Amino acid sequence: MKVFTLPPEPLGLVFDLDSTLYTHEAYARFQLDVLVRRLARERGEAEDRVAALVKDVRDRRRRETGSETSLGTVFMELGVPIETSVLWREELIVPADWIGADPRLREVLAVLGEHYAIALLTNNPRSVGEASLAALGVRDLFGPVVGLDDSLRSKPDPAPFRLIFSRLGLDASSCISIGDRMDVDIEPALALGAGAILVEGVLEVYKLADFFGKGT
Ligand SMILES: [Mg+2]
Repeated sequence: MKVFTLPPEPLGLVFDLDSTLYTHEAYARFQLDVLVRRLARERGEAEDRVAALVKDVRDRRRRETGSETSLGTVFMELGVPIETSVLWREELIVPADWIGADPRLREVLAVLGEHYAIALLTNNPRSVGEASLAALGVRDLFGPVVGLDDSLRSKPDPAPFRLIFSRLGLDASSCISIGDRMDVDIEPALALGAGAILVEGVLEVYKLADFFGKGT
């Protein structure tokens, strides 16, 4: 866990979903592969050729910008509108096929929820985010959920961060973004004046109640 600036009196916790609220490498890989496969079908090209194209765009943007590019943005560059990315994800990603109830996560979030407003900000569509929370058995512990289809911009764009802060009815300066990716979850939140905590996965999320002094 790496803690960046924290608000003096935090009111809201904004969680990332994938590789934050659950850790599942095969599911993470599936989410990439299934979308590459869908794009290959759309273009009438071999999957490995499209996978190489995606990698080329990512590598070039990393050189140009010094940071990672979201898959939605890579797909936009390859001619797939963000609305189409949303539809493909809704069709192809079924969270309950991969993740299940996590009582330990529920216990920690329930404790945190007594002290903070809890929200989800994901680069997946909102319906996939909500289905994931349901599969994990924690949907009722979350307030607002903002997904790719809400702002039509993916993190690290500041737009979805602004939207989730406004849905919480809070200033960025009283919120903390919690996620597994420095460039996607942490840097944009810090740039907007929020606090941020980088986690390596759900095992570190389990430690947050203790971290905030609200031990279970
Ligand atoms: Mg993540």
